[in-house]
Amino acid sequence: MLKVNLIDVDLKFPNLALMKISAYWKRQGAVVTLNGSRGDLNFVSCVFTKNKEKALKIAESYCAEAGGTGIDLKSQLPHEVEHICPDYMLYPKLNYSIGFTSRGCIRKCSFCIVPEKEGYIKEWSSLEEFVRHKKVILLDNNFLASTRWKFKLLEMIERNLIVDFNQGLDIRLIDEEKAALIVKLNPPYLRFAWDDVKDEAAVRKGISILKKEGFPIDRHRIGFYVLVGYNSTLEEDLHRANTLHGMDINTHVQLYKGSQKTAKILARWANRPWYWMTSSFEEFEPIKNLRQYCELFE
Ligand code: SF4
Repeated sequence: MLKVNLIDVDLKFPNLALMKISAYWKRQGAVVTLNGSRGDLNFVSCVFTKNKEKALKIAESYCAEAGGTGIDLKSQLPHEVEHICPDYMLYPKLNYSIGFTSRGCIRKCSFCIVPEKEGYIKEWSSLEEFVRHKKVILLDNNFLASTRWKFKLLEMIERNLIVDFNQGLDIRLIDEEKAALIVKLNPPYLRFAWDDVKDEAAVRKGISILKKEGFPIDRHRIGFYVLVGYNSTLEEDLHRANTLHGMDINTHVQLYKGSQKTAKILARWANRPWYWMTSSFEEFEPIKNLRQYCELFE
């Protein structure tokens, strides 16, 4: 019997591509192992660029085919593998479904790899294709920009799914109709992004529509990804964090590569409600210490 060995070099999250390769080869009658001994066929998957070298070394020693965003931004699975239901048994503890209903995005944010990697938004998989658990993690980059957003939300509501829009929804696209359906779907936690201080009016408007339609605006139910260290000043970063905290909204600060020490401290403070609820950033011990330390050399 054909033995297929799959190697997940990142070991951080369940690897969706490997789950699909596994399903494909199991369907051909193969025995599939994950990070096992060398098989007749071996595949290495690498999502994070920092693991590229390690992945290529392993691929060489296993005579394996290597793929994934960490190796090649444009790497894609063959159509018949991409559009198969993932093998959820590859990660036996997994208790949720995972997949994309769309890929790409309508926007071209200069810090983001999605436009280059996936291009303009396009429909990708039906829920039927990959949903096997009630809990679903959606990896769509801009779900609400899909022309079929309404159809998909209605299907999720109909199927009573517990959905995590993991990559965040686009607050600039929220209107009454979308907000009302999101309220009906009732996701346990909603994520959005506020990456540019100039979008403040749209952010405030989106939040107020959600509130008006009945979505609870509190830190246990809603959070924003806040990109810092990219074309923004510390004051602007802090303004976005404070504005959201002021509405009892959680922040998930994301550091752009090469961020300054102050931005790192901001992330520590803003990503833990205990810190931002009990102290202002200026009074946060690590930033006070850093400022005192800098003053010594002035
Ligand atoms: S909206 Fe989000 S996914 Fe789309 S380009 Fe901007 S950051 Fe990337």
